Amino acid sequence: MGLTDQLLTLYRVDSQVRGLRTRVENAQRYLNVQNRQLEQLTTEHSEMELKVRHKEAGNGTLEVERDTLQERIDKLRDELNSCTTSKQYSAVQDEMKSLKEKVEELETEILETMETLEVDQEALADIENRQAERATLKQQAEKDLEQRTEDVSVRLSELEKERDCAAAVLPEKALLIFDRVADMNEGETVAEIREVNRKHREYVCGACNMELPFNSVVLLTNNAEQIVQCVGCERILYIEEALKTELAK
Ligand SMILES: [Zn+2]
Repeated sequence: MGLTDQLLTLYRVDSQVRGLRTRVENAQRYLNVQNRQLEQLTTEHSEMELKVRHKEAGNGTLEVERDTLQERIDKLRDELNSCTTSKQYSAVQDEMKSLKEKVEELETEILETMETLEVDQEALADIENRQAERATLKQQAEKDLEQRTEDVSVRLSELEKERDCAAAVLPEKALLIFDRVADMNEGETVAEIREVNRKHREYVCGACNMELPFNSVVLLTNNAEQIVQCVGCERILYIEEALKTELAK
């Protein structure tokens, strides 16, 4: 088996290995996204929860203040009955009046705070819903990853052995080039030479359409034991048997 055939054999098994690994990697990537989204929601949740607790506490303080003033007003109302002079009476009345105004101010403030608190409470509930939805997606993603890993594991280890065998027969330099080009092109390592015009010696890379120096065609037609790469995408080139036979005539 010539170098090109060895490379094609390696390519066929290598692309299958990469395809299976990609299926698992995609599932892992999807799971990672779910985890990141959940982390983000956890942060949002604790921030909003803090805000809600803070406002609840603030409102509680206002209510205590209002109740204290109200008690004082009630007490003053009783005192009105025991006033002996009109001067005393109007002094108590004045104090009651100013306290009532303060109570009203507090009531308004409490209502306003309640309104913004409700908005925050709704936002908190919304975050909790989104957390629950995202947790479901995460669970599905975990299951999917587990399933895919299980589905491909046997086939993948068989293919990896095949790949090792196919790689073992290649010269070390050729294997280095193959691995580099495979990584560069996401496993699309080889490309067929396409004939555009025989008379004008026009040939292009079947993957990226870059015009190739005629010498590339000559090397492959003559079964030269060397790797011929596309000048554009660096894929390893091969020539179909039919075309090769034609050109060798
Ligand atoms: Zn190319």
